[in-house]
Amino acid sequence: MRLGISAPGNRLKDVNFDAMMPRDPFADDPNDPASFITDDDPIDQVEPLSDVERLHVEQDLKLVMEFKSVLGPRGFEGIFFMCDDCEELHYYEWDIMAANMRATLNGDMSPVHEPSIQPRVEAYVPWDYCLGYLDGLEAR
Ligand SMILES: [Zn+2]
Repeated sequence: MRLGISAPGNRLKDVNFDAMMPRDPFADDPNDPASFITDDDPIDQVEPLSDVERLHVEQDLKLVMEFKSVLGPRGFEGIFFMCDDCEELHYYEWDIMAANMRATLNGDMSPVHEPSIQPRVEAYVPWDYCLGYLDGLEAR
């Protein structure tokens, strides 16, 4: 595992996921197409997830789908949380939340600061509330 981080734009091709990924077919090829991607290419702007981060997002995605199946029928539409960047509450429907997480797993930029338009705020709950709700169901 080498983490040869030189400049932020170079991270994507410098991080080696050999523990997780199939072998890069171009690994020994001096004509590796990736070497022709310039730092201006948008694909280089997304920082790759570490294995641990990826695991967390996959777990969160599973939880969101559980929350949706359990809380959705009870009238809850999604999650809200305080955004550290905007210092505002953000409201996300279950599906938007899940789509953001899938985008993150795919290495796409997720539109984190794109809240639902005019959410019914009373139908949104904090993440921890959902976790507690699931725990309560399992305890019965
Ligand atoms: Zn924000």
